[in-house]
Amino acid sequence: MDMSKVKVAINGYGTIGKRVADAVALQDDMEIIGISKTRPNFEAKTAAMKGYDIYTPADKIDSFKKDGYTIAGSVEDMIKAADIVVDCTPGKVGVSNKALYEKEGVKAIWQGGESKDIAPISFNSEANYADALGADYVRVVSCNTTGLCRVIYPLDQKYGVEKVRVTIVRRGGDPGDIKSGPIDALVLDPIKLPSHHGPDVKTIMPHINITSAAMKAPTSFMHLHVLNIQLKNECTADEVKNLFATRPRIQMIADGISATAQIIEYGRDLGRPRNDMWENCVFKESVSVDDGELYFFQAIHQESDVIPENVDAIRAMMSLEKDNLKSIEKTNKSMGIGI
Ligand code: NAD
Repeated sequence: MDMSKVKVAINGYGTIGKRVADAVALQDDMEIIGISKTRPNFEAKTAAMKGYDIYTPADKIDSFKKDGYTIAGSVEDMIKAADIVVDCTPGKVGVSNKALYEKEGVKAIWQGGESKDIAPISFNSEANYADALGADYVRVVSCNTTGLCRVIYPLDQKYGVEKVRVTIVRRGGDPGDIKSGPIDALVLDPIKLPSHHGPDVKTIMPHINITSAAMKAPTSFMHLHVLNIQLKNECTADEVKNLFATRPRIQMIADGISATAQIIEYGRDLGRPRNDMWENCVFKESVSVDDGELYFFQAIHQESDVIPENVDAIRAMMSLEKDNLKSIEKTNKSMGIGI
């Protein structure tokens, strides 16, 4: 263990947890001291192969050992050994771990599946990094909210945002998820408007006037956002394309790509780990201005866009870097974001 590095524990090693672990392991100012597993499945097997110390609930240690695993200790032992824990347990489960983190005096990050009330700060690297400096508890907002903040923030800075309207076509389940659906339907989710995404953006940028609608679709690759934004000051489509192209976590998608499946194929061709597309994927040709209003499509890779934000949140909470752009640059460089 390197004493100069921040000690990070990952509680819950599923879709998000395994990616956060790999991203943290790439940083030179933090290290993974352990990950927790509740079941000895293939993800436990690959965690062991990667060399992560595995912790389990105390009553599961023996059964993991029987299956041939070396177990470093209980989840409580892992939390005690950490400076900060990234809770990546399923939505609404993370809240039940709060008392443990408080008892052990460990800083904690929760994910977007938890209620906004779980932590005093909801986080996005570009929009409100400074709010998390030295903070004990932070929630990294959901994949969709992260994707919305990344485009709304720079537009608001440059042109002023009057009103955002967004329709979100959500993936029904992640590729490895064998329980979710729908298989053959578009499910209004929720049927009563607005969806939670607009209010969630406001937890980071309270002054933004935004309304959102969402539905679930039978696809697992990505979410798709249809955006319509009224800006306070005039701009052209080319100016917006240029603005987005300068942002550290937006990728302008072109080269004949007109579908989420092609973006994932592009990620595979780029040799991205798990074909992750950490950046917002804005369809360049879709960016248009009509009658003073901006329109565009963007695709969001739900499994991966929040991963760099978790790394930046650790850096802010542990006061490793005061400048958000420097943290973003460091995280991006280590992970290969923007390449
Ligand atoms: P997941 O189901 O893929 O992984 C959760 C992991 O936690 C599993 O390994 C599970 O076995 C484990 N677990 C369950 N109960 C536990 C407990 N009590 N203690 C420790 N571990 C436990 O879930 P996920 O998709 O990675 O989601 C995690 C969080 O991230 C949720 O808040 C979710 O809303 C949020 N999130 C998910 C996505 C996505 O698309 N998957 C995107 C952004 C944010």
